[in-house]
Amino acid sequence: MPEDKKGTYDAIVIGSGASGGWAAKELCDKGLKTLVLERGRNVEHVKDYPTASKAPWEFDHRGTVSIEQRKNLQGARNLREETLHWALKDDEQPFIQEKPFRWVRGYHVGGKSLLWARQTQRWSDYDFEGPARDGFAVDWPIRYKDMEEWYSYVERFAGIAGNRDGLPELPDSIVMPAFETSGIENYFKESLLKDFPDRHLIAARCAHITDPQEIHVEQGRSKCQNQTMCNRGCIYGAYFSSNASTIPWALKTGNLTIRPHSVVHSIIYDDKKGKATGVRIIDGTTKEMIEFYAKVIFVNASALNSNAILLNSTSKRFPNGLGNDSGLLGKFISWHNYRGKASATFDGLKDKKTDGRSPSYSYLPRFRNVFKQEMDFLRGYAIGVAGGRGTFSNTDMIGDQLRENLLKPELGGWYISTWMMGECVPLEKNHVRLSKDLKDKYGIPQLIVSCEWSENDDKMVTDYMEQTKLMFEKAGFINIKAEDTQSPPGSDIHEMGGVRMGDDAKTSLLNKWNQLHHCKNVFVTDGACMTSTGSQNPTLTYMAITARAANYAIEELKKGNL
Ligand SMILES: Cc1cc2nc3c(=O)[nH]c(=O)nc-3n(C[C@H](O)[C@H](O)[C@H](O)COP(=O)(O)OP(=O)(O)OC[C@H]3O[C@@H](n4cnc5c(N)ncnc54)[C@H](O)[C@@H]3O)c2cc1C
Repeated sequence: MPEDKKGTYDAIVIGSGASGGWAAKELCDKGLKTLVLERGRNVEHVKDYPTASKAPWEFDHRGTVSIEQRKNLQGARNLREETLHWALKDDEQPFIQEKPFRWVRGYHVGGKSLLWARQTQRWSDYDFEGPARDGFAVDWPIRYKDMEEWYSYVERFAGIAGNRDGLPELPDSIVMPAFETSGIENYFKESLLKDFPDRHLIAARCAHITDPQEIHVEQGRSKCQNQTMCNRGCIYGAYFSSNASTIPWALKTGNLTIRPHSVVHSIIYDDKKGKATGVRIIDGTTKEMIEFYAKVIFVNASALNSNAILLNSTSKRFPNGLGNDSGLLGKFISWHNYRGKASATFDGLKDKKTDGRSPSYSYLPRFRNVFKQEMDFLRGYAIGVAGGRGTFSNTDMIGDQLRENLLKPELGGWYISTWMMGECVPLEKNHVRLSKDLKDKYGIPQLIVSCEWSENDDKMVTDYMEQTKLMFEKAGFINIKAEDTQSPPGSDIHEMGGVRMGDDAKTSLLNKWNQLHHCKNVFVTDGACMTSTGSQNPTLTYMAITARAANYAIEELKKGNL
């Protein structure tokens, strides 16, 4: 397509997920004509949630997925009939696992913001200062003070349920009332305070509206109904997704054009102008290559895809990928360590039970190596905690008695389960690169993923298992089990890095405003920009960093600097 008005915008955003939605919202709000390029199909809030209100008996297989349906979905995770509409087909984007890696993706408007568990914990300076203090990776070019106002900005708009816990290692968010935690979680919290005063079990902070404010009503969103059917798509818009929140907001400005079925191939770099001028896509339906042009480009295709796009964006000036003078593009890929799991039961609390449902649970912020290095591994892990009281019905009969028993189930015992959320230390050898031989159906080189666990990760899992057992024993729990699931890297879903931030262009790709050091009108603000991984669920940080970078880009455009 010639460089004409039809294909020219002020800004292009690649990807419409959690971070891309924020880029679109900020750029459109400030008057920039913005094109969002999204490889997947369109998903309109409410209209395209086909199973949102279905009862179990309305599904052909009561929720399970048949062998026939699984055929082209071998790589999909937790396949269920209720959420089959989000599952990614294997032939959409094959990739090469040089070592075992699970790559969880969501390819549709909204990306993984429709699939996530909505847990949103802020980072503290103990996280931002980690690399500098512990001597791994490179120093972050930003600190908590740079992020604080942007965390608040994003939280106010998204809506976060939680408490103000006053913990230095987990700065307070702007919150609305937290979801209630269960009896056993409350009991465990008290037990921990007695035996481990530095371990604070809190209600996890999560992106659900529990007390709608004007800004949420303006978005057309309402209060969480505790249905816990979130991953089908929420018709109330109660949890934050791009589809319920940022994308419709940006559309309302009249400045947003969203183009689904647009698989971004590469970013166009103009050697003469010394900057990026646009984006090449392959139309998902016609397989035609089309170019779009803009003054500023935001790359938000999710971490590994953002790496792939930059690696494929070669030019005379950048033969090894856009902005890749340092040779580090695609290196220092990192993720989270969710390998450890534990469970137990409890004979006490017979006078308590649970009532209703909750879409959230409890969270034990990192307690290892926070204030000083004390273990034989670097960094630490947070722990997710959920527990409840089971029910059962005697079904050994038929007729009225069976119906009676099913309607009045008896209470069982209490159970509790935990999962570790460990910080992985980025290593240069963990990398992605493009295949020289194999391409996908769009003619784009396949991504080779070469990542493996380190000794640091193994030690952390061992410590998690030991500590969880100890904490359970002290609480008087029984039937204690802890295991290393040996799940492959990527299973935790939080892949990060490859285009890391830093002050020095020789050791990093992005500056403190997420601009490529060597191509200032390209911003990368998804997980690819992460210099280190923290132990917190990362998406809140991607969203805040995106809002911050987008507002900076707007100012720079006004000054004529881009
Ligand atoms: C089951 C599950 C639970 C999770 N729970 C949590 C949680 O509790 N807390 C948390 O913080 N995080 C959680 N996450 C992770 C969270 O969803 C992601 O971190 C977040 O969505 C990442 O935002 P993003 O914008 O980088 O990518 P995404 O939201 O994945 O969006 C990327 C978009 O880019 C598009 N795209 C990719 N490649 C191209 C291309 N070449 N051209 C055009 N478009 C492209 C994709 O189709 C997609 O729409 C969870 C994820 C899953 C799957």
